[in-house]
Amino acid sequence: MSWVNRYVYERPTTPQVHQERVPMPDETCAGCAGTDVRRYPVATHMGPRMVVKCQDCMQVVRIERPGPADAWPPFRPVTMDWDASPAESVTRFLLGASADSTEEASSDE
Ligand SMILES: [Zn+2]
Repeated sequence: MSWVNRYVYERPTTPQVHQERVPMPDETCAGCAGTDVRRYPVATHMGPRMVVKCQDCMQVVRIERPGPADAWPPFRPVTMDWDASPAESVTRFLLGASADSTEEASSDE
């Protein structure tokens, strides 16, 4: 996928736009044992994320950083997947491990 695809969008062909919630057939909810688990983009306090969520009880199964194929957020910055600069890495280290940095560290492995 070229970086151009992050910036060029076709005009919607439907009268209303909607977000498809992609079914995750191999996932099971830990809260209600439901199997209607879906993945879709969300905007959170940590920034744009992909959530895998039970559609029966709305329990979050997991939150992931969006990959290039997710096309989220719209107009995704070209530098979004770059590693942080050494100065930014030190700043994040000195500020301590937050929930967001823990999530990012585990998802980058
Ligand atoms: Zn559930």
